[in-house]
Amino acid sequence: MKALVKARPEPGLWMETRPVPDIGPDDVLIRIRKTGICGTDIHIWNWDEWAAKTVPVPLVTGHEFAGEIVELGRNVEGLAIGQRVSGEGHLIGKLSRQSRAGKFHLDPATRGIGVNEPGAFAQYLRLPAFNVVPLPDSIDDEIGAILDPLGNAVHTALSFDLVGEDVLITGAGPIGIMAAAVARHVGARHVVITDVNPARLALAAEVTDVTPVNVATEDLRDVMARLKIVQGFDVGMEMSGNQMALDQMVESLVMGGRIAMLGIPTGKSPVDWSRIVFKAITIKGVYGREIFETWYKMIAMLENGLDVRRVITHRFGVDDFETGFAAMRSGQSGKVVLDWG
Ligand code: NAD
Ligand code: ZN
Repeated sequence: MKALVKARPEPGLWMETRPVPDIGPDDVLIRIRKTGICGTDIHIWNWDEWAAKTVPVPLVTGHEFAGEIVELGRNVEGLAIGQRVSGEGHLIGKLSRQSRAGKFHLDPATRGIGVNEPGAFAQYLRLPAFNVVPLPDSIDDEIGAILDPLGNAVHTALSFDLVGEDVLITGAGPIGIMAAAVARHVGARHVVITDVNPARLALAAEVTDVTPVNVATEDLRDVMARLKIVQGFDVGMEMSGNQMALDQMVESLVMGGRIAMLGIPTGKSPVDWSRIVFKAITIKGVYGREIFETWYKMIAMLENGLDVRRVITHRFGVDDFETGFAAMRSGQSGKVVLDWG
């Protein structure tokens, strides 16, 4: 089969021919139809410090996918050959206290497909049946291929009650934009999204009803005054990984405000803790998706009018993967989807 492989410990990915994976009794084999390129894949392409210490070489990369089941392990029940599926790319252990309590997303032994284990940028993927999420007919393959990052957005956005609340999202990357769409869908009052990249802010306004703010050129306080957000935002979602953005968020929240933090700062970063204390702010770190509660809620919202399709800005056949990665690396794209035919 064709597969996009991190074949050498240096920048790049290489299309190689690999054997179709053998499956175990509890696994399924999925023929991949569409995949999404994630920021994580860009780290792996660039071979930065994180990638070099995390990713074993050689490894088939990729974790955002939709496809069709073509083989079932002998213990697998409740799934069928030909079924259209996506799936959770975090492979969890079942031995930790968290897993045994059903909090699978908090299992410390989690391993990621396309990061620690063979991934989805291939014609075929082996996945434990436990991780499979069937797709209803109303969710097509390209939306199926971005459920992993949409799940990050949903997990973050549903961390706190947003109904009637003023929400600040820092970072208008694909996940921040989708989080804005979710916040609107569930009934937030004002949703303000910040970035320093005009293309990303324009895309945010195309995808959903948000107030985009370029913090490189505009003062967020002016925007708050215009929207009559007097005491501050009720809820913040940090989706940039940028230290300045987190600072600005803490400064712009109400007393008792809540922050859900998905963005990953590089290294240790200084935080003004006294401001967090005196404002009595709650911060929740968010990792991955709740397994599988996020998936159920996300699919239900998509079936009830949540529309994130316009966040997909580029579509390529997989033989043009280099163009797809270039689009993603340019910072001018939303989601980039590759078609495996
Ligand atoms: P992205 O890199 O595409 O988007 C981040 C955006 O933040 C960019 O558009 C950038 O211009 C913007 N930004 C930079 N400085 C800013 C500032 N001062 N104020 C506001 N915005 C600023 O990322 P993404 O794929 O949308 O993911 C969002 C974040 O979530 C990233 O940090 C990513 O690493 C992280 N992430 C975390 C998890 C998790 O499980 N915790 C999962 C996926 C992604
Ligand atoms: Zn991803």
